[in-house]
Amino acid sequence: MLPNTLTRKATAMEVMMSCFDDAVLIDHLSCDNTAYPASSLRAAHRTMQVHLECLVGQCPAKSAAHRALEEAGRLTPDSGRQRH
Ligand SMILES: [Zn+2]
Repeated sequence: MLPNTLTRKATAMEVMMSCFDDAVLIDHLSCDNTAYPASSLRAAHRTMQVHLECLVGQCPAKSAAHRALEEAGRLTPDSGRQRH
């Protein structure tokens, strides 16, 4: 017998993948959610904004967003203050 957790994880992932929509953004903004910030650059940017008060390395969501932006070469110094 396989534990239900395996199936459950796959299902949760599928749900997440189909839910990247601004309307449900709120659901993705918890500090524990690293799947959302890693899903797209836009999501990563949003995450950085929302987790301004959090610290990279302490907040899993911000760390994931930071890394995604860094890998994409989109990380600008002092990005929190830039608004064009
Ligand atoms: Zn956070």
